[in-house]
Amino acid sequence: MAAGTAMDWREGLDAGVLSSESLVRDSFRRIHALDGRLHCILAMDEERSLQVAREADARLRAGDRSPVLGLPVVLKDNLHWSGLQVSCGSRSLDGYRAPYDATVVGRLLAAGAVPVGKANLDEFAMGSSGEFSAFAPACNPWDLARVPGGSSSGSVVAVAAGYAPLALGSDTGGSVRLPASFCNVTALRPTYGVLSRHGLTAMASSLDQVGPIAVSAADIALAFGVMAGRDPMDSTSVDLPGVERLARLQPRSLKGLRIGLPQEYFTDGLEPGVEGLLEAAIQVFTEQGAEVQEVSLPHTRYAIDTYYLLCTSEVSSNLSRFDGVRYGPRAKRETLTEMLSETRDQGLGSEVKRRILLGAFCLSKGYYDAFYLKALRARTLITSDFDRVFESVDLLATPVATGTAFPFGAKMEDPLAMYLADVFTVTAPLAGLPCLSMPAGFVAGLPVGIQLIGPPCSDVMLLETAHAFQSLTSHHLQTPPFSQIGASHGL
Ligand code: GLN
Repeated sequence: MAAGTAMDWREGLDAGVLSSESLVRDSFRRIHALDGRLHCILAMDEERSLQVAREADARLRAGDRSPVLGLPVVLKDNLHWSGLQVSCGSRSLDGYRAPYDATVVGRLLAAGAVPVGKANLDEFAMGSSGEFSAFAPACNPWDLARVPGGSSSGSVVAVAAGYAPLALGSDTGGSVRLPASFCNVTALRPTYGVLSRHGLTAMASSLDQVGPIAVSAADIALAFGVMAGRDPMDSTSVDLPGVERLARLQPRSLKGLRIGLPQEYFTDGLEPGVEGLLEAAIQVFTEQGAEVQEVSLPHTRYAIDTYYLLCTSEVSSNLSRFDGVRYGPRAKRETLTEMLSETRDQGLGSEVKRRILLGAFCLSKGYYDAFYLKALRARTLITSDFDRVFESVDLLATPVATGTAFPFGAKMEDPLAMYLADVFTVTAPLAGLPCLSMPAGFVAGLPVGIQLIGPPCSDVMLLETAHAFQSLTSHHLQTPPFSQIGASHGL
C-alpha cells in the first residue's frame, strides 16, 4: 500500500474494509523495505504493536468510532512508551526503558492508536538537520543526499515515506515545522501547554511542546483532538478552546480572513523560488476573499540570540540529570567527580556538550544579568510584538525556512549557520503561540513549506485554515520518488 492519509484509512477502518492489523503489518513492511536507507526508526516491538492493533480491531467490530482508533503512529524517541527504549538519539541513555507512558502516548493508546516505532532525532532534540543523532541520521526521502531537517527527523520522514499516517515529534524552536517543510508534510506546534509534556524528555522546558505530524491538517486534527487538554501531571498544561471541532475538521471560510505578512520574514535571505511559492500560496487565500496586509514585528532581529540564550540555559539545567547516577551507562572511576565527568564526556555528543557549556556560562554568577535576564526581557518584547499585530490580523503567514533541504554536512562545521536555519521558527515558541507548517510546492524537486502563526489558543482555527488551503491545493498529496529505494520491494 502506498502512503495514505489518516482520513482515507479512517474511512476504510470504519467501513470494515480495512483492519488495524493489516495497516500495522503494512507499516512494518514499508519500514523493513525502506528503513535500511532512510534510518527513521530506532526501535520497534512488533508483537506488542500487533497486539494493540488486534484490540483496536475488536473495538471497531464493537462499533467504536474514535478518531484515531486502529491508526498506526510513530513516536519520536524522546517520548515515553512504557517498556520501550527512550534513547533521545543519545548514547547516554543506552539501556534505559520507559517505566510509564507519556500523557500524550497514553491518550493515543486509550483512543486506540497503534504505536509502530520510535523515531530518530537529533540528540536530545538539539539540532535542525537530524545529523546530531548518535545513530545513522535519517535521510530526506526526496533526495537521499540531503537532510530531512530536525530535530524530529525520523518522525517527519516516517510520515513522508508512508510508514504511518501519523507521528509525534517535539518542537522547542522549530523541530516539527522545519523538517515538515523539508519533507512535504504538515506539522503543528500547539499553543504552549495544550499538549502535556509529561513523559517528553525535557530539553528547554519553557519552550518544549509535543507536535503532531501528518499528511494533512485534517489528519493532524484526528490525533490532536484526543491528546489535547489539561493534565494533572503537567502544571503548565491548559485546555484547548474548540477542541470538539477537531474530530470532524471543517475548512474555515477564507472570506474576510485577515492575514498579516511580517516584513521581517520576507527578506533578501530567501532563496530564489521560495518567495515565489509563498506568493502563490498567499494568492490562494486572497482568491477566496482573504485580506492580506504587511505588518511589522520589529524585535524579530533578536529572536535567534534570545532563543539560543534561553534554550541553552534551560538545557544546561535539564540535562544535569544525565550523569550516570540514575540513567544510562556509568563510567567506572575512583571518585564521584571523575565518574560524573567521564560519564558525561563519553555519553554526550558535541552539540549537546556545546549547549550545556554555553548555558552554564549564561547562568553563571556575573553573566546571569548580562545574558539570561536580558534574553528574558527580549522575549517579552518579542511577545508584545505579536500581541500588537494580532489586534489587526487573524493570523500571520511566513516562510518556514530560507530555503529547501540542504546537503548532508553543509552546516555541520558551522554551529551558527545551523542555528540560523531556525530563524523563522523560533519566534512563535518564544511567545508561546500556535503555528504550523504545510506544503506549498517544490523548487527543483524539493519541498517548500509555508508557516501560519496564530494568537494564543487559536490552534483549531489554524488547522481549519490549513484545511481550507489543502482543500484547494494538492502539494501535500505529492509523495517522494521511491524509485531510488523502494522499487525492488514493489513499493
Ligand atoms: N533547531 C532548534 C534547536 O536546535 C530547535 C530544536 C527543537 O525544536 N527541538 O534548538
